[in-house]
Amino acid sequence: MRIAFVYCDVDSPSRYLRMLEIGVLQRMLEEAHHEVASVLAGWFDTGDSCLARVSFLPNVTVLFLDEFNWQATKEVAQKIRSLPHRQTLIAVGPYATIAPDTVLKSGIFDFLLVGEPDVALLELVTQLERKGDVSQIRNVWFRAAQDKVVRNPLRPLVDNLDSLPLPDRTLAENDWNALPDVSTLYMLVSRGCKYSCTFCYVPLLKNSYEGKGEYCRTRSPSHVAGELLEELRQKDYKRVCFVDEIFPLSKTWLRGFAQHLRKGALPPWEANVAVEQCDSEVLSLLAEVGCKRLHIGVETGNETFRKRLANRNVNSEKILAFLDLAREHEISVIAHVMIGLPLENAELAEETLFFLKNTNFDGIEYRLFHPIEKTPLGTYAAGKEEAANSSACHVKPP
Ligand code: SF4
Repeated sequence: MRIAFVYCDVDSPSRYLRMLEIGVLQRMLEEAHHEVASVLAGWFDTGDSCLARVSFLPNVTVLFLDEFNWQATKEVAQKIRSLPHRQTLIAVGPYATIAPDTVLKSGIFDFLLVGEPDVALLELVTQLERKGDVSQIRNVWFRAAQDKVVRNPLRPLVDNLDSLPLPDRTLAENDWNALPDVSTLYMLVSRGCKYSCTFCYVPLLKNSYEGKGEYCRTRSPSHVAGELLEELRQKDYKRVCFVDEIFPLSKTWLRGFAQHLRKGALPPWEANVAVEQCDSEVLSLLAEVGCKRLHIGVETGNETFRKRLANRNVNSEKILAFLDLAREHEISVIAHVMIGLPLENAELAEETLFFLKNTNFDGIEYRLFHPIEKTPLGTYAAGKEEAANSSACHVKPP
């Protein structure tokens, strides 16, 4: 089969994570001897322009839905669907799991894969090629005759991540946002996150997998080290960026990781971490293997508000202590902050500015709050919008 992956790039914070997830799917299909390509797409794309970046005419196009790109993907998928060339359209990715009925209702896709798509996609493509029976494939949803919706159950989560192939890096290598002269190796070593932030899609995925296995999983240190060393042998990367939701910080894992990498084996690298998991020993282990920068979620300056947002207590004292420890280990710290949060008023925004001004972060990354369907904060924001738009409400949005 000739299969194209299309990822609509709306600058989601998880874009590199998605590129690697697609890379794993791509590699699985390549290993099964399918002809596979992957492309980034944007709002500006027509169906033709998007597929013109693929060197063949696909039988199957797989569109990857992250937590933010549904609207853009829907438009691109519609344009692809309207092309004279008939092909099977499949939707995969977190949004397909969070809001499967919305995706199915759009009527654009032939199939939808809920949950982790790795094995399910391979099985589906195999059956399509054989013109076989697709009706029983776990994780696959579709509309059958008489508009009947087939919702096959979820299969268990992949328990051993080492069993998955290493990603094809085509998308990350062709990133149109890449910094010139800073070749970056993007790495993914885990799946899942144990936290439950109210604005994040992760708890929704976690809930949908109840009873299907351990949600937070990590590749073995030797598997990760092997991939790193092989990639670095092939190309002169200037930095490594671990794109996991939260980088694994178990001391046993970190010691194993350090054992497989001699000092100086890695170029400077960075990762996202949870402040409360970083004690002095963890930071020392990270520094030992070349970590130079850590990203932390601060979100807002007010402790109580932060606690409500993150569903856990990341108080400012902990953040300041973490900052001092990181400095001791010559690791810089980037704070991630959200603006335009529901419930945020001028006073809270001022407090965030005050906190950032008086805390010596090495960098600050701002992101405008974007509500994600079905998350507690997304639902709250949608309710507010509805109330503001209803005739009973005196306060109208500008
Ligand atoms: S820590 Fe990050 S990935 Fe985990 S739930 Fe919070 S925002 Fe989501």
